[in-house]
Amino acid sequence: MSAQRIVVVGAGFAGLKCVQRLERELKGELSRGEVEIVVVNPHDYMLYLPLLPQVAAGVITAQSVTVPLPRAIRTAQRLPGQVVGLDLQRKVAVVRKISEDVVDLPYDRLVIAAGSVTRQFDIPGLEEHGLGMKNLGEAAYLRDHVLSQLELANASTDPEERAARCSFVVIGGGYAGTETAACLELLTDSAMKRFPRLDPTLVKWTLVDIAPRLMPELGQRLGEEALDLLRRRGIGVRLETGVERVTDESVTLTDGSVIPTRTLVWTAGVTASPLVKMLGVELVRGRVKTGTDLRLDGYDDVFVLGDSAAIPDLTASPPGSSICPPTAQHAVRQAVVAADNVVASVRGETLREYKHHDLGLVVDLGGTQAVAHPLKLRLTGMVAQAVTRAYHLYALPLTRTRARVVFNWILHLFGGDDFIRIGFLAGRKSETSSFEETRDYLSADEMKQRSVSAS
Ligand SMILES: Cc1cc2nc3c(=O)[nH]c(=O)nc-3n(C[C@H](O)[C@H](O)[C@H](O)COP(=O)(O)OP(=O)(O)OC[C@H]3O[C@@H](n4cnc5c(N)ncnc54)[C@H](O)[C@@H]3O)c2cc1C
Repeated sequence: MSAQRIVVVGAGFAGLKCVQRLERELKGELSRGEVEIVVVNPHDYMLYLPLLPQVAAGVITAQSVTVPLPRAIRTAQRLPGQVVGLDLQRKVAVVRKISEDVVDLPYDRLVIAAGSVTRQFDIPGLEEHGLGMKNLGEAAYLRDHVLSQLELANASTDPEERAARCSFVVIGGGYAGTETAACLELLTDSAMKRFPRLDPTLVKWTLVDIAPRLMPELGQRLGEEALDLLRRRGIGVRLETGVERVTDESVTLTDGSVIPTRTLVWTAGVTASPLVKMLGVELVRGRVKTGTDLRLDGYDDVFVLGDSAAIPDLTASPPGSSICPPTAQHAVRQAVVAADNVVASVRGETLREYKHHDLGLVVDLGGTQAVAHPLKLRLTGMVAQAVTRAYHLYALPLTRTRARVVFNWILHLFGGDDFIRIGFLAGRKSETSSFEETRDYLSADEMKQRSVSAS
């Protein structure tokens, strides 16, 4: 009898935790060869996204926010590549390996944990000039870009060019955008000592959001405190304002104002991986609608979780009236339920429902500043920063990675930053679609051809 194959797509927060739990719960079946687990992920690491703003700001090195899969995964087979097609009828995932070979990977159970990509809007110039903040490449690119703007401004004799290069705009007042603006503002502030020809008052950070409040999930009072803190640090916050147009020299906002700038960071929302469109099923806000047991409607052998999934929130009032937000906290907890339900389905047992009360949010605003809302407590300042950092250390999956992060924090505290550009991304296209490889998926026609030639 051949082994039942469980294929897990993605090894991020949800995928990695799910594989680890499957390895634990199916130990017997795995050792008897009754089950095999294959995890497909383009990289050999899981990325701890919440610390990306600190990578861009140079507080932590890029390698330190990665969790090496060869250490974190014990028995599951790792297939380095990207699932570029799904055929639910044939029960096949099509994988483009990092060698560029495209192969069919049949499955008995499929777990889709492919996360999300930057949500693009139809704004002229955004695709060409907007910089993303969703992966290591983008964080490293953004750091290099910001430092190069200061260098170029320092070298320029044109006052308009100097001002534009020293003006930085971040779109999106959620936690990703707010942390990015706050952490990078500290970077440019401390970098000024290396650019003596530049007037420090030229450096301006602007955070823009269409909503009336920053980070609404923090609650009104903490959102206002964060806003107040950012404004006191000189960060311009423009609320109830959108973006109309972007060029390589300016951003035009919906209130008609034009900001001369060479830097636009786009963090205004995420949407599920383009992979989910291949399922041909109902999407809710771009994410796959699942049952409370995380199964895809009509497909008992397919589970979807994390940022890719729209899972009914059973803690909402009334239960299921909204969907779980796309956060790491939910992704990890959904992974436990998804793994248990895969095991239950393999063993013919009853599946359970996903229900998790939100534990709150922590937001690092750089240095000793933070706002945090853990377990309904409202914290600011150094206490919030201590809670924020303790939370990240608790949430990082490996002791080795935790140790690296702590070491980086200490090193940065006492040694500061050298403000150097790494340079290896110079000349690379900055578009988010190029960093996120969203153009690599197979078309419906290509999938049809594969199905015909296989039968
Ligand atoms: C800057 C930033 C800060 C954040 N801060 C916080 C925070 O403080 N708290 C919080 O709760 N959340 C935070 N989040 C959100 C959180 O990171 C996500 O909700 C979480 O990563 C979702 O987990 P996931 O497993 O669904 O996706 P991910 O962790 O993104 O993992 C998806 C994995 O799938 C892989 N993948 C994608 N497509 C394919 C494919 N076709 N084939 C194979 N593999 C594929 C990816 O390479 C990746 O490894 C932050 C996000 C960002 C960008």
